[in-house]
Amino acid sequence: MPATPTPCPGPCSRAWRTAETAGTPHELQPAWGQPVHCYTCQTRTRGDLAAIPELLAAIWLEATNGTARPADVTTSRPASVAPWPGQASRLLTDLIVGGLAELEDDIRALRGLAPRTAAVREGAAVTASISFLDTHLSWAMEHHPAAGEIHERDSANPSAQIRSWHRMAQRFTSRDARLEQRQAPCKRCGWRSLFYADGEDYIECRNAECKLLMTADEYAHWAEEVAAKGTLKHAA
Ligand SMILES: [Zn+2]
Ligand SMILES: [Zn+2]
Repeated sequence: MPATPTPCPGPCSRAWRTAETAGTPHELQPAWGQPVHCYTCQTRTRGDLAAIPELLAAIWLEATNGTARPADVTTSRPASVAPWPGQASRLLTDLIVGGLAELEDDIRALRGLAPRTAAVREGAAVTASISFLDTHLSWAMEHHPAAGEIHERDSANPSAQIRSWHRMAQRFTSRDARLEQRQAPCKRCGWRSLFYADGEDYIECRNAECKLLMTADEYAHWAEEVAAKGTLKHAA
């Protein structure tokens, strides 16, 4: 039975999903799953996972250097609880370390494997969980019951969970490139509102009434056109 290709549920296909939902004419293509996630997402998830220990160390350094920005950590703690030094770092660390352990437990249960042996030291626990998840990542991105879930906030998709921990950690340690503004004005609305989002394959107009999506190639051609027009104007 030939398998019908399905769009990758990852951020790679977000622009395509948005355009499809909006029902506006577009020429975007999704990234196709291989067979669930595309190769780009598979590679990126593995890289995100591998980077977590180093990011956790950086989060801990933020705590001891006191440069952490607690507002950047989303937790369900009530606002009435007074923060203590290093609290933001601690909460984020707990969230990521706890999440890794939970995902490991989840996969162990699904695959009928022996329960996780809890490590005494946090560092050892993280190393063990990451090593386990790395081993089972291909399975998780294809066969986990939530593997096909669209990557959204709070998605149970293992790949989305790993990505979200990675991004939270990056944001906390200020390494997130965030949104990168493009120089040329939007082709459709003329606003200087074109942005490239880190990890996305598209340039998006942030003008809520326009929301034009361009591929990197389309943008490059457009930017050249704009530059050429600018030169002509100066020459006239
Ligand atoms: Zn993908
Ligand atoms: Zn626009």
